[in-house]
Amino acid sequence: MAFHINTKVVGSHHKDSHLSSVPPIYASTTFKSLSVDEPGPYDYTRSGNPTRTTLQESLKSIMNAEYVLAVNSGMACLDVIVSNLSANDEIIAGQDLYGGSDRLLQFINKKHNVTVTQVDTTNLSLMKKSITSKTKMVLLESPTNPLINVIDVKAICDHAHKMNKDCIVIVDNTMMSPLLMSPLDLGADIHYESATKYLNGHHDIMAGVLATNRKDIFDMLFYVINATGAGLAPFDSWLLLRGLKTLSIRVERQQENAMKLAEWLEGQGFKVRYTGLKSHPQHDLHFSQASGAGGVLSFETGSVELSSKIVDNTKLFHTTVSFGAINSLISLPGKMSHASIDPKVRAERDFPEDLIRVCVGIEDIRDIIGDMDAAITKSKRGSSKL
Ligand SMILES: *Cc1c(COP(=O)(O)O)cnc(C)c1O
Repeated sequence: MAFHINTKVVGSHHKDSHLSSVPPIYASTTFKSLSVDEPGPYDYTRSGNPTRTTLQESLKSIMNAEYVLAVNSGMACLDVIVSNLSANDEIIAGQDLYGGSDRLLQFINKKHNVTVTQVDTTNLSLMKKSITSKTKMVLLESPTNPLINVIDVKAICDHAHKMNKDCIVIVDNTMMSPLLMSPLDLGADIHYESATKYLNGHHDIMAGVLATNRKDIFDMLFYVINATGAGLAPFDSWLLLRGLKTLSIRVERQQENAMKLAEWLEGQGFKVRYTGLKSHPQHDLHFSQASGAGGVLSFETGSVELSSKIVDNTKLFHTTVSFGAINSLISLPGKMSHASIDPKVRAERDFPEDLIRVCVGIEDIRDIIGDMDAAITKSKRGSSKL
């Protein structure tokens, strides 16, 4: 019987000779050979470790994939993938990518002469024109963060494979988690995520996971992981296994809270970006490929000064980067995570400087709205906690 994802996240696929309920941590870098001619199932932790295998087996069922590999950060996922590009190979990606992904693509462009073409991925006809038979890889994120733009993943996968059947379409699904969207089912070749965010959910480890249904892609990724040492450590694999068990209840509560906060903010007259709201121009497209809106929203106040004060005046929300943990976070991307992007480029890409990003946690919604309300009232009066 195929279980639902809410059940799958709770289960752990380990087989232990002592029948332990929780998988052990194999804190061993080396494993013995049976004899000179007979290797055992493991030899060295860079190549494989039983705790990492348990995690990967659990993720296979959660991510609906034939093959899963766990690495030591979300960025390591992209690094392992793009290591397979050579000079003059082309990768097409969105303009509105996670900042770290943007930086890595600029790096491989400068150092390795990989052609990086960044286009507005929300513009389907432009995307279709940009992807040609020469395109080796396409990198997508939906919804984007913090602009909350939605990309038609299936249409782009179909088109890319029509132009070049070997084109590898990659979806960074960190904003959704496997609970809300399954990129492989939409036609993607690789689904990866920063497990630092929703999958682990507690802001205490860095990790990344890669999933594919293609054996050739799995072999290519495993080769780089083994060659470079990007595989996830046993302790971190164990912590991620523990975090995963509550993925479904965490994300459900986060998006329930996010919806209530989004409606409340909209009711206060702010321009809110959240795919759960009917007012989001791509609400229908989003729900055609995902089952929920997730826990990240952003809103504009009309004034950078007011936005800065609201961020500073909240007490419950931590002012920090990242998202996906159990507590609520707030930030002003224009001055924080996106400050390194040239203001001219931000303006060209219609990046609102007064945009506040909120990553909603699992706290009581009355406290979340209460704290936001108090911060807004105080900020409009002009005082700040700083
Ligand atoms: C955080 C994040 C990453 C990078 O993951 P790390 O675990 O921080 O290396 C990649 N993509 C998205 C969308 C992210 O939010």
